[in-house]
Amino acid sequence: MIDPDKPRKKRIVILGGGFGGVYAAIHLEKLLARVDAVEIFLVSHDNFFLFTPMLHEIAASDLEITNIVNPLRKLLRKVEVLVGEVKEIDLSNKRVLISRGYRNHSQEIDYDHLVIALGSITNFYDIPGLADLAVPMKSLRDAIQLRAQVLRHLEEANFECNPAERQSLLTFVVAGGGFAGVETVAALNDFVRDALPFYPNLSEGMLRVVLAHSGPVILPELGESLGRHTQKVLERRGVEIRLNTRVKRMTENKVFLAYTAPIPCSTLVWTAGTVPNPLISPLPCAKQRGRIAVNQFLQVSDWP
Ligand SMILES: Cc1cc2nc3c(=O)[nH]c(=O)nc-3n(C[C@H](O)[C@H](O)[C@H](O)COP(=O)(O)OP(=O)(O)OC[C@H]3O[C@@H](n4cnc5c(N)ncnc54)[C@H](O)[C@@H]3O)c2cc1C
Repeated sequence: MIDPDKPRKKRIVILGGGFGGVYAAIHLEKLLARVDAVEIFLVSHDNFFLFTPMLHEIAASDLEITNIVNPLRKLLRKVEVLVGEVKEIDLSNKRVLISRGYRNHSQEIDYDHLVIALGSITNFYDIPGLADLAVPMKSLRDAIQLRAQVLRHLEEANFECNPAERQSLLTFVVAGGGFAGVETVAALNDFVRDALPFYPNLSEGMLRVVLAHSGPVILPELGESLGRHTQKVLERRGVEIRLNTRVKRMTENKVFLAYTAPIPCSTLVWTAGTVPNPLISPLPCAKQRGRIAVNQFLQVSDWP
């Protein structure tokens, strides 16, 4: 609780409860364990830390939600957690504006030091159909939505007599060959193939799982040889890999990739684009490709 009438301690405010924000908070808690003159606040949308690298396992029903969320209040003992939406960052006046609770209660918080760890958001690049029809894979809600959609499509396909309709229900395209896309396509592929025996009217031959990637090899972060190895493993397990291509458009039952015929498909998982959090762009500090430029200590040099 921030009491405006009390003389305030030196205050560190951390924005974001993902990897960046939570690990900064854990480190500061240890560093300042015996220092009483400093208070630390962490502001985040949710009161839990989400282990995003295992998000696809929720989508594929491999794990329960509680396995990948960790309550922030359990993780952090000295840091005070403020659940709310960061609305504005005012670097000049060292103040952030947040909105909290169902009634959108506005609150201004002054700080002495600010940690900005708000992550990125999904970018659909204005590709027609994507914002309405594609499923992103970034939040817990996305993973739950994908699982529900896949199960719904299996159910519908099981009694669908029209082969074209059935094909689009049973085709799953994942766009993006980075960690999120590759892990998601692998988990999704296992999930639907394992589920198939429970649907008497469906067979393996009806199923298509496709990974579309804009580069020549998937997982560019890991280097060419690991990327090629992963491609082979995925292909062995039945995933079609489309390289050097991009999603151009999506309709309710088709995905249009560059240079090839449209794929009959009603589930497109979009992991192919992110942009920095929109709260970053109005900040008057130096940026590199829309991201805040920092020095080797992750400090913003012109706003110490
Ligand atoms: C499916 C998937 C698999 C992945 N697999 C891997 C992997 O295997 N290896 C790897 O290295 N990386 C992986 N990643 C990437 C990794 O998850 C990200 O790099 C990492 O989460 C980035 O951490 P962050 O703290 O910068 O941002 P985030 O984790 O996105 O955290 C941002 C935080 O800020 C909060 N926030 C944002 N805006 C506001 C606001 N306005 N008000 C309040 N709170 C706000 C969010 O709720 C969130 O808590 C994967 C990502 C996904 C989605």
